[in-house]
Amino acid sequence: MNADDLFARYARPELARLFRALNLDVTYEAGQGDHLTRRSADGSAAGERVLDLVGGAGASLFGHNHPALLEVARRCLDEQTPFNAQGSIRPGAAELARRLSEIVGATTGTGYVVTLGNTGADAVEAAVKHATVEHRRRLGALEEETELALRRVRRDGIADLPVASGPAAGRPCAEVLSETLDRISRLRGADPVFVSLRNAFHGKSTGAGTLTHGGNVPEDLHVPGPRHRRLYDWAPEAVRGALDAERVAVHTVTVDSAGVPHSAERQLSPVAACFAEPIQGESGVREVPAETLAALRELADRHDAALVFDEIQCGMGRTGTFLASEDSGVVADYYLLSKSLGGGLAKISALLVAEKRYVADFGRHHTSTFADDDFSSRIATAALDLALSYRERVTEIGTLLRDRLTEVAAKWPDAIVEVRGRGLLLGVEFALPQPESALLREVFDTESLGYLVAGRLLHTHSIRVIPTLSAPTTVRVQPSALLEPADVDRVAAAFDEVAGLLSRGEYATVLEH
Ligand code: PMP
Repeated sequence: MNADDLFARYARPELARLFRALNLDVTYEAGQGDHLTRRSADGSAAGERVLDLVGGAGASLFGHNHPALLEVARRCLDEQTPFNAQGSIRPGAAELARRLSEIVGATTGTGYVVTLGNTGADAVEAAVKHATVEHRRRLGALEEETELALRRVRRDGIADLPVASGPAAGRPCAEVLSETLDRISRLRGADPVFVSLRNAFHGKSTGAGTLTHGGNVPEDLHVPGPRHRRLYDWAPEAVRGALDAERVAVHTVTVDSAGVPHSAERQLSPVAACFAEPIQGESGVREVPAETLAALRELADRHDAALVFDEIQCGMGRTGTFLASEDSGVVADYYLLSKSLGGGLAKISALLVAEKRYVADFGRHHTSTFADDDFSSRIATAALDLALSYRERVTEIGTLLRDRLTEVAAKWPDAIVEVRGRGLLLGVEFALPQPESALLREVFDTESLGYLVAGRLLHTHSIRVIPTLSAPTTVRVQPSALLEPADVDRVAAAFDEVAGLLSRGEYATVLEH
């Protein structure tokens, strides 16, 4: 059996069938910079060089096999750096954590404790878990405080004394405190709630998959994760007040030096964390407006919840700033990074938790066999240097690319709806064609259109694209920071050709390759 057959039988049968049907069952045997080398049909001839705009779905901002990163990887191997050294101090992980804390802290003004993981979804799961623990401990501390207050008023013989001021004025002290205890214990008994946005993508593991809004995934492929609320309306007013009904008012009681009890109101909530990608990648490259991010900050604060920015795809300098959220001025409590953090050579992710929120014993108990390895950490530290050094270049070449694609979109408004994104995180949304033939209408459906465009670009122009995961009429354009102006010309010409064919209704030519 050849690799195609093995893949189809033992690896991903359904995907293999789809690749064959779409003529996208190709194999790449080498990668350098922005190019992949395609294996020729019988493996004998020199392979064709393909310009890779998929860029590892955002993971190869530094291209394939960047020499500076290869050098670090080689040094690790030459030095026989231990890969497995759990239960010891790992210098690579420690240095990477420090660098991440300092780089992100330079814009947010705070320090971070960093939990390293293996994949993007792994970092999302760690964030869900940390926020759950933080939430439970906060409620637990309040419960203890209230129990203590109740014991004191009983001990001091003022349990039946009416509260002198505040929202519970007139009611007996002990009754107010018992009611508060009851409400806290009910909240502690319920699972915490997690919030994410319409069209969010946070990964596919169980918890992350619940936060993800995968409209095109079969319902029964979703496995229930944590309790969850999705915010469909991004208007700041709607976001701020979206979960007001979930808030639970409780009364706290303090006794002054004269022995007189006073009450105050406090709002509790089951919401543990609000997640957002500052630029949504998989849903077709959609920027979340700064006002919506600011409203999410307020929402999280109203609920004493953590605000989590998932910068797994948009961070690491991909948009020209280290964090895509920098320009918004909104500061989150947790940041998630992965993809390009591994420099395209290592699988690694990071959860950054603001120091003041970090649960001290989290890192003792949240462990994973492959997390913290020096090989990935050292590559990631070198990738951080590249990310910082390429920021201006990303903005320059990204602006050029976006401008050129926008010109193409303006020329073919019937074929291209819009070009979206910033820096080197761009998406080109194609309009669904309306061929007269019923057969062609079935071929050019929402799920296939992006792949059909991908086929034409690959076979006619040697350019590799794929659609974004949950918005398949949008083709992702995520090259590396090494992209040259001449590549931009090629990309613009290729999109121009495909958009022209679609616009003129030359569907058979799109399919022909
Ligand atoms: N968050 C975001 C924003 C992503 O784009 C992705 C991957 N596309 C993930 C999380 C999940 O990362 P992984 O595929 O490594 O689990």
